[in-house]
Amino acid sequence: MIARFFIGLGFALAASVANAGSTFATDDYTLPFYDPAVSLSYGVDRDPRACYQLDWTGTLWHDCNLHYGRVYDGHTGADYPMSLGSPVAAARDGAVVDLFEGYGTQQFGTYGNYVLVSHADGRRTLYYHLAQNGALVSVGQAVHAGQGIASSGCSGQCYGAHLHFEMRKSTSGSWVPVDPIFEQRYTTNPGRVPFLAAYIRESNAGTEVIERYSTVTHWVEFKNTGGRTWRNNTGVGRILLGTWNPAQHSSPFKAADWGSTWFATNVDQSAVGPDGIGRFTFGLHADVTPGSYDEDFNLLANSLRWFDYARLGSFHVPIYVITNTSQ
Ligand SMILES: [Zn+2]
Repeated sequence: MIARFFIGLGFALAASVANAGSTFATDDYTLPFYDPAVSLSYGVDRDPRACYQLDWTGTLWHDCNLHYGRVYDGHTGADYPMSLGSPVAAARDGAVVDLFEGYGTQQFGTYGNYVLVSHADGRRTLYYHLAQNGALVSVGQAVHAGQGIASSGCSGQCYGAHLHFEMRKSTSGSWVPVDPIFEQRYTTNPGRVPFLAAYIRESNAGTEVIERYSTVTHWVEFKNTGGRTWRNNTGVGRILLGTWNPAQHSSPFKAADWGSTWFATNVDQSAVGPDGIGRFTFGLHADVTPGSYDEDFNLLANSLRWFDYARLGSFHVPIYVITNTSQ
């Protein structure tokens, strides 16, 4: 128990020492939204000829029909149906190069609202049909992978509320659309939302019994079911365990290894890729009156996004504080 506590503390110290430099640039793209229930309606047509459609699976259609889940003729991006006002996320680290947000949220005309982001690999991503005044960023601003950058809408040429996500590459001096699905430019194939986790197990899934004025060590493991690699050595976007319900409340069970009154720990490992298991080790210290308590926690991509708590298995720690027998 004591040994495990100091292992946890060691990780926390290592994390704060190695706090310089972003490693996000080695990561590729994720889906540009947070809801894992959203799925592709129409992808990119990779055949420039009219009424020839080459979809992301490699199937060539010689017709002018709509093919749901695949492609429609002349389409330059990937469409993801979502309700108006849904959050739209940057697919990778980058910088905003252009945006427009002055059209009506449901204007069915040629032009729509958009945010255009450039990335270190020389590509650009376009987020189109956004809500009126739906941009959350400004031109020139640096954005982090998974950061909320806009609110979705149905502005411009839009047959139903959706996000049109487009990736472009510079070829002979002009920007041409490419197919991120066909090119497997997502960190996972197929693409996933940036931040998602599933509960696996914990050191004690029952009630933690803590003698008053003492500390116990607890750990919990989650599977990284999102598309981004979890890291503990960067500032913005590092994955940490914080108090929840309400978010960031001061915990009466804060132990000496916590980063703050609400921030229990970073993920133990330096990197946990998609489908990997991340462990979060932290102390629980009880000064409170003996009795029954419950402490809730949630995962956070620091400064970017709280995870979907319901999909974590609503992780919480029942605590029973007993009288200190040495008093
Ligand atoms: Zn589209």
